[in-house]
Amino acid sequence: MRQKIIAGNWKMNNDKEETKSLINSLKSISFSKDVKVMIAPSYIHLSDAAEMLKDHKIDVLAQNMHFLNNGAYTGEISPQMLKSIGISKVILGHSERRIYYNETENSLKQKIKAAIESNFEIIFCFGEQLSDRKKGKHFDLIKNQLKIPLFHLESNSWKRIILAYEPVWAIGTGETATPNQVQEMHSFIRGLIKQNYNDDLANRISILYGGSVKSKNSKEIFSQDDVDGGLIGGASLDFSEFVKIIESI
Ligand code: PEP
Repeated sequence: MRQKIIAGNWKMNNDKEETKSLINSLKSISFSKDVKVMIAPSYIHLSDAAEMLKDHKIDVLAQNMHFLNNGAYTGEISPQMLKSIGISKVILGHSERRIYYNETENSLKQKIKAAIESNFEIIFCFGEQLSDRKKGKHFDLIKNQLKIPLFHLESNSWKRIILAYEPVWAIGTGETATPNQVQEMHSFIRGLIKQNYNDDLANRISILYGGSVKSKNSKEIFSQDDVDGGLIGGASLDFSEFVKIIESI
């Protein structure tokens, strides 16, 4: 049985009061025990979030991290710093980090390695641009986005990996991939894991979909065979919308 996961990526949103208020609202809900709920507040509020959710089953994620534990890297946050405030889960490879901060397959390989060495759980994001899909290159592109950062890992390290397929053209645009497009890509991804590792590992990996998921489309997307949950951006900032999405899985 694969773990079902709904993760909210709050990006650069919510000040201190808004962060606390949304966390308190989420704490008041009892979600099904079959679904793992995670939230990724901004860096500056991670400590508050970790403290508020210390004895709660909602997990807190960082939205990014450096691959070194310390050094002259102004503005960066290290695995060790996150660990010291009780955070051991991180999103890596989000398309906004790739686009605006030039993250590449090679820099992500370093981050994944560091995250695994520090015993982090990782939501690894990847996805094609619309132009890649229009040229029919989306499957090759996804294969390359996974190959360099992940396919050198030993199978044991994969228990720390959650995959999140996020077509760039569907992020924050209101444009969702159709359930068929999502299933087609998720099944392709599971197939790649089978080829590079084995059936058992492929059948254990949770693969999330992200890209304009809302309560009105979540049920259909989550009902696809190879979809194990969602990485939710905009809709995770709205308490009742996020709860409806969690309840739809
Ligand atoms: C995301 O940024 O990971 C995301 C899926 O955003 P949205 O849900 O707003 O498209």
